[in-house]
Amino acid sequence: MHHPAISIKDLHVSYYGNEAVKGISLSVQPGNLIGIIGPNGAGKSTFLKAVLNLIPKDKGTIHLFGNSIQEARRKIAYVPQRNDIDWDFPITVLDAVLLGTYPNLKLFRRPGKKEKIWALECLDRVGMKDFSKRQIGELSGGQQQRVFLARALAQKADMFFLDEPFVGVDVSSEETIVKILKELCWQGKTVVVVHHDLSKAEEYFDQLILLNKELVDFGPVSEVFRTETIAKAYQGQFAFMKEIGV
Ligand code: ADP
Ligand code: MG
Repeated sequence: MHHPAISIKDLHVSYYGNEAVKGISLSVQPGNLIGIIGPNGAGKSTFLKAVLNLIPKDKGTIHLFGNSIQEARRKIAYVPQRNDIDWDFPITVLDAVLLGTYPNLKLFRRPGKKEKIWALECLDRVGMKDFSKRQIGELSGGQQQRVFLARALAQKADMFFLDEPFVGVDVSSEETIVKILKELCWQGKTVVVVHHDLSKAEEYFDQLILLNKELVDFGPVSEVFRTETIAKAYQGQFAFMKEIGV
């Protein structure tokens, strides 16, 4: 039977009694590049973490490829928001990417030569092979984000979740990342990206999830990306609106 990549029904999440995500239901088909957009504090990261079961939810059901997140875990790669990563953690670029191979190793096996070659291939794909021996803390923002994408690639996942991957990233890294994300979609993978720079949303994504605690809109970019919908999600945040000229 054909299952949606993501199926969410009535998802509610709160912190200390304050609702951050309210009653979200949606279903996403595989092979799409999906943007989650909404103003700061709209609950975008919370939504992502709840979908991945990294934080508890109050209510709702979530299925990934028709399975629970526990069952689907190996097929899911997640690149957290910059601030959620400890960049001082002493680990080399290669070892960080090798961590991505763990879900596919047999229990208690450590990555060997085969995994190392694969990790270097993934680093090559993001243009970071020459940096394999560096500490992750020694890289620029764009390089760090590319390494984390390589780690996600190393996992051979079917679904990728990235939280604000373009924040603090140079233009050429952003282009490299977008190109790879599009390639993943062409291969039938599902890619979900939290993003708050509206100016590129139309260019990057197939579908948009427009979020402001509640689901404001969800659908093909051309349909969601209209003035009134954007205005509804970004109510009062005119700095953003100027950016895209609405
Ligand atoms: P976004 O990613 O869209 O900027 P977040 O999901 O980070 O939004 O946050 C949504 C709301 O939940 C905000 O009001 C934020 O302050 C609050 N929040 C996020 N994380 C926590 C937390 N760990 N504890 C308490 N409140 C939180
Ligand atoms: Mg966030």
